[in-house]
Amino acid sequence: MINITIYNEYIHELQNEKVGEIYPEGIHGAIKNLLSEDKNLNIRTATLKDINESLSNEVLADTDVLFWWGHVAHDKVPEDRVEAVYQRVLAGMGLVVLHSGHYSLPFRRLMATCCRSKWREDGDRERIWVVEHSHPIANGIPEYFDIPHEETYGERFDIPKPDDVVFISNFSGGEVFRSGCTFTRGMGKIFYFRPGHEEFPVYHMEVIGRILRNAANWCYTENKVAPTFGHYPKIEG
Ligand code: ZN
Repeated sequence: MINITIYNEYIHELQNEKVGEIYPEGIHGAIKNLLSEDKNLNIRTATLKDINESLSNEVLADTDVLFWWGHVAHDKVPEDRVEAVYQRVLAGMGLVVLHSGHYSLPFRRLMATCCRSKWREDGDRERIWVVEHSHPIANGIPEYFDIPHEETYGERFDIPKPDDVVFISNFSGGEVFRSGCTFTRGMGKIFYFRPGHEEFPVYHMEVIGRILRNAANWCYTENKVAPTFGHYPKIEG
């Protein structure tokens, strides 16, 4: 079993009636439902309100892959939780960063760039193209698919060069965006996936569920052997 923790700040759903109707169980609940189709995933959730317990050192130590959705409360995440997530990724925990999580503190610390982009809330159509068909995260995903309405993000997206760009989006307003990017930091595998604005039912789409399940499996590293650092005696001769 792969231990998954889904962190969602869980604020829009409680404060905005429209968002609450789309996600009555919270965005974390909807993502949990999508991931639950994979019986190899053991899933728990965490929210900002009780983050010191739901994302404690013990929970993180027992998490193989962490999903992260945040937007309006990035700066409310306690510094020691940001550092703990950062250190766990370096030690091999997978991290799936969703939508506006691109500006979360753990992601920015891991990327070491500003991680900003253009954005616009016009309800554009988003067309997502697979550009790395052999990548496990693209397994079973059609060559392209549409999200009828989404928030628009536009390049430049200020990230370091990804290991792989798996998906590229084009929006009906004209922008393009590297929507599915992978990175390695320390022993941890990271996947950034752009869709998931809270005002549209993106996390009810089956194709999105398939991508998130693929990402959960890809970000998991089995049988990690930690490297040693520092002075090292010769092993031959
Ligand atoms: Zn958004």
